[in-house]
Amino acid sequence: MSHNNALFARARHHIPGGVNSPVRAFGSVGGTPRFFARGEGAHVWDVDGRRYIDYVGSWGPLILGHAHPAVLEAVMRAARDGLSFGAPTAAEVDLADLLCERVPSMQQVRLVSSGTEATMSAIRLARGFTGRDKLVKFEGCYHGHADSLLVKAGSGLLTFGNPSSAGVPAAVAADTIVLPYNDVAALEAVFSEQGDRIAALIVEPIAGNMNLIQPSPAFVTAMRALTEAHGAVLIYDEVMTGFRVGPQCAQGLHGIKPDLTCLGKVVGGGMPLAAFGGRADIMARLAPLGPVYQAGTLSGNPVAVAAGLATLQEIDRPGFFEALGQRTTELVEGLSKEAANQGLAFSAQAVGGMFGIYFSATVPQGFADVMASDRDNFNLFFHAMLEQGVYLAPSAFEAGFVSACHGTEELEMTFVAAKRAFDQIRRKPQ
Ligand SMILES: *Cc1c(COP(=O)(O)O)cnc(C)c1O
Repeated sequence: MSHNNALFARARHHIPGGVNSPVRAFGSVGGTPRFFARGEGAHVWDVDGRRYIDYVGSWGPLILGHAHPAVLEAVMRAARDGLSFGAPTAAEVDLADLLCERVPSMQQVRLVSSGTEATMSAIRLARGFTGRDKLVKFEGCYHGHADSLLVKAGSGLLTFGNPSSAGVPAAVAADTIVLPYNDVAALEAVFSEQGDRIAALIVEPIAGNMNLIQPSPAFVTAMRALTEAHGAVLIYDEVMTGFRVGPQCAQGLHGIKPDLTCLGKVVGGGMPLAAFGGRADIMARLAPLGPVYQAGTLSGNPVAVAAGLATLQEIDRPGFFEALGQRTTELVEGLSKEAANQGLAFSAQAVGGMFGIYFSATVPQGFADVMASDRDNFNLFFHAMLEQGVYLAPSAFEAGFVSACHGTEELEMTFVAAKRAFDQIRRKPQ
């Protein structure tokens, strides 16, 4: 038995399902998850020494690739001065300044340790600010695993076929209104019926947890206009898209100023760090200034902050996002070309350093379209690529990520592998 398979067997003794986050278990694609030993640049190595081109990037944070020298140096320097104080440090002020400078809608920001904490806290704050309870979210959007948000959430839940989680009290779920993504009429109807009871609307401004789904311009405009007209807080959950799709996040691409923004993944550069922030009058309702409680022993952790600062400084170089966007576009165009050569129903799109691949003839516009794509073909593709040393997210419902280290060589190797993988799909017994 390989070292990898032995480890997975051992892991299942003391870790439920052998993993510390469900999608890692390969439940939807089948087979044995890879245990990684090391990463460098665009590559990861498993415990049996096999190398893979990595298009997961720790699910988004690693925009600079694995073990980036500047990030490692910053982390080691910070660690030598102590791992945690539970008291203010200068670096967290630097990070707050930088975030508020880069994200125009952000006047104040608070640091937390995970995207889940950021969205959970933003929602509590919106409820405290408005004095209302109802929350609007969209089908297939994932906002972390807080109770009120685990209603028709995407990603891991889709992978395992649970539209929602057990253990969420009905009373909590009852305050969450779930609407179809990109459906302006449904949004207008809900606001006209219950607008004065809605505390917040939370959205993935470019959805990346039901594969990659782009919002229509009309949907983007309607969300801003309706929340403003009805006094509800517009929360952009940019945990995935923040500093991934562009230098001012998705809101910069959309030309929208949300009231609150949640950040995570890239802002922590691979360390546990996330943030929420926005309008100063709303943020002033947070403790210690206001009555909305929120806290964290490790919030603003100096080692995590150092990784975040180093990452944000690197991506601030001129042309960074142009190059990343171009590389990602080359990737999806190359894959589409190989699939078309084999006559397969396949489509793909890229935004910044994020991409979606779909086994459907056209790019999906919403949750139902994604569900209608061919999952068997995705699973075959996933395993054929894995065998050839290309690591994709182990689910048809996840977006993919390209880092600054993915170069022409990695792309060419990916295309060679894809050609064989698509060929296997074309030949499969119908
Ligand atoms: C990853 C993600 C989260 C949750 O972040 P964690 O750090 O995993 O808790 C929330 N919202 C979105 C859009 C995400 O992609």
